Amino acid sequence: MKLLYCSRCGDVFNLKLQEKTCSCGETSGSYTGGLNAVFKGKYAKPLGFANNSFVDALKYQPSKPPGRLFTAFVIEKNCETFAHKDKFTRMTASLKKAKSTKKTAKEARKNCDRQIGVVSPLKAGPKYRCKKCDDVIQSKGRHDFVWCKCGAIAVDGGNDYTRLIGRPEDQDCVGENCVPPKPIPPPVRIIKEGSQPR
Ligand SMILES: [Zn+2]
Ligand SMILES: [Zn+2]
Repeated sequence: MKLLYCSRCGDVFNLKLQEKTCSCGETSGSYTGGLNAVFKGKYAKPLGFANNSFVDALKYQPSKPPGRLFTAFVIEKNCETFAHKDKFTRMTASLKKAKSTKKTAKEARKNCDRQIGVVSPLKAGPKYRCKKCDDVIQSKGRHDFVWCKCGAIAVDGGNDYTRLIGRPEDQDCVGENCVPPKPIPPPVRIIKEGSQPR
């Protein structure tokens, strides 16, 4: 994800489609559609969070020190998708020109886009209570896999999808948006060729 640092007032903020400004008013910026963003001001420094490392750090927030590191960086001066507004027109022109030779346009976008696209906020999924240990569990986002205390049930997927682990009779929906428990398929018996089933 893309952010801005204002070296005058020290503010750091993320970007939205609607223009945002730092508290001293010197630095501002916005997304212009897709992954493209622009910023203004002589004190503005473009920053990026490496999405995967940031999402992982949120997901695996430790309960004890040290805190979890993630990768952040100052974006290079000539990033085609995060440009200073004074240079924006020139940048767009050069990108358009580059588009005529497809490969070049792709190359131009490759470096800054791959890591710093938009990170959607985590959305929590439905809550489930374990009838065995009474623990209430909730997946806080896609890929947030949570077990109950006793390990009888687990849930994954946040608000995007719900994956429930465990026996349906141990699961109790708390609140809304629960998915109905799925019947567990009978265990598959693997019979080796040549050997007798036991
Ligand atoms: Zn400022
Ligand atoms: Zn349990």
